[in-house]
Amino acid sequence: MNRLPSALRRALCSAGCAALLAGCAGVATAPAAADRGAATAAAISVPAIARPSGETPAWWFRAGAAQAAAASAQAQAGGQRAKNVIVFLGDGMSLPTIAAAHILAGQRAGVDGESYRLSFEQFPFSALSRTYETDQQTPDSAGTMTAIMTGVKTRAGYIGVSQVPRRDDCAGSRGQELVTTLELAAAAGMSTGAVTTTRITHATPAATYGHLPERNWEVDAELTPEAKAQGCKDFAAQLVDFPGGGLTVAMGGGRTEFLPAGAADPEHATAVGRRLDGRNLVAEWTARHPQGRYVWNQHQLDALDLAHTPQLLGLFEPSHMHYEHERLHDAAGEPSLAQMTTAAITVLRQNPNGFFLMVEGGRIDHALHAGNAFRALDETIAFAEAVKAAQAATDPADTLIVVTADHSHTMTFAGYPRRGNPILGKVQGHTSSYDEGSTPGNAPDATGLPYTTLGFASGPGYTGASDRQSEGPKHYPHAPNHISPATQGRPNLTDVDTTDPDYLQEATVPLKAETHGGEDVAIFANGPGAAAFHGELEQNAIFHIIVQHTPRLRTELCQLGSCNAAGVPVERPLYSRWLQQEQQGR
Ligand SMILES: [Zn+2]
Repeated sequence: MNRLPSALRRALCSAGCAALLAGCAGVATAPAAADRGAATAAAISVPAIARPSGETPAWWFRAGAAQAAAASAQAQAGGQRAKNVIVFLGDGMSLPTIAAAHILAGQRAGVDGESYRLSFEQFPFSALSRTYETDQQTPDSAGTMTAIMTGVKTRAGYIGVSQVPRRDDCAGSRGQELVTTLELAAAAGMSTGAVTTTRITHATPAATYGHLPERNWEVDAELTPEAKAQGCKDFAAQLVDFPGGGLTVAMGGGRTEFLPAGAADPEHATAVGRRLDGRNLVAEWTARHPQGRYVWNQHQLDALDLAHTPQLLGLFEPSHMHYEHERLHDAAGEPSLAQMTTAAITVLRQNPNGFFLMVEGGRIDHALHAGNAFRALDETIAFAEAVKAAQAATDPADTLIVVTADHSHTMTFAGYPRRGNPILGKVQGHTSSYDEGSTPGNAPDATGLPYTTLGFASGPGYTGASDRQSEGPKHYPHAPNHISPATQGRPNLTDVDTTDPDYLQEATVPLKAETHGGEDVAIFANGPGAAAFHGELEQNAIFHIIVQHTPRLRTELCQLGSCNAAGVPVERPLYSRWLQQEQQGR
């Protein structure tokens, strides 16, 4: 069933790969498709190595592999083999976001919210993920998704590129393009997919297939003249030019990145194509996949015979897709994330070799940046529905589902709201943890004003004002004897409906956009290899746990040269060469 992989394998593999392939022969000789990789599926031992004085990409790769192998051995998860892998990425889906979303989901259903469990909260295995990047304490979506997809931590803003080059340095990034799980799957003859509610060229989906030292180069119009002269190619072009058969499925927003400058958008009169190179990437994709189907609205997607569709490209909005809250108002009709997930799996599961799929709930992050808890929770609930749809369409005996976030946000719970208090409402409960014996009621702040359970440490929800200390920075201790000196500065919410979808929760630090947070996020897992997700993992170990429990991916990793003769991952991350080869071939 290795239809295209040999050409793709050459494209992904470095020049010195032939010798490495010979060295890996002992691992890679299993000939029959069914047996392929079976010998490598037993538990492996990857001894940890000393941390070098500088953190190199090679060290991150090996350290991640060692952490994955150790977590797997502790859980006795060795030998579990996945055929299919689905990574669900809730962008910015922090632990408070999950907790608030499950409370809202339960309250909407008329049942107890606090004990309600979203689909993935019912998974049997979970771990914490440390999200810092090589250069940032609080990370962005580009470097974090690169860690998840390549097994190597890198800098903020980098997509599928190691920490070595400077940001925006196209020439310096050449040779530093790290092979992603999706590329590995394609080389191994598996089907591949990426589905998102953002532009399909946005940081998270781009990190499944693309390589650039600048996340903003989504369309050629965004590239610097130097980057263009040096041959760098925007993410929309990388998606369509992807080697081999290309991605089997790609769905999301971002049509204007694919259409030539000035070209009319089929849905919105105000949107036009943005490409300066004149390429119509939709037309090119359609020509390259004569049996494939391109759709841009719900009606067209619904009309497809997906079980007999070999490739699928869906671009449902000129830019990001709508929030779930606005989706049904879209004139042309837009599928939900759950509908896209089911459609993608129906196409992907035609391949007996299995598939790799990434599904992003991308607008959880956007709503949090906007300081709007309602949409963030609503998007998280829609994301959980997509996970449920994937469970319904797959078999847990052969499909590993991993649900995680790239980074946190600053939204948090405040006060002591009583059990069952509306999660988007004002705190009704005890004033402090010290008067638990009293009858709960209105729980005002120190100025006598009500406040909401959910709030932000930064962002547009800042309401201005000061407190009893003179203007400027405040000093500890600010509130001796638990009596706040603040008497003014907060708005009176008594007559404000804070459960309104458009209400912005208050923020401490005024910023145009609320910021990410730096603490751990969660990983939930189900299926073969899921037991290896436990403890507190570095984010790049996610790649290694997935690869070590998916025989086709693990064999491919070794065939491409990242293992020793015993099949143990070595200090040698894989570098993708197709972009360089393409440039040389011009
Ligand atoms: Zn963000």
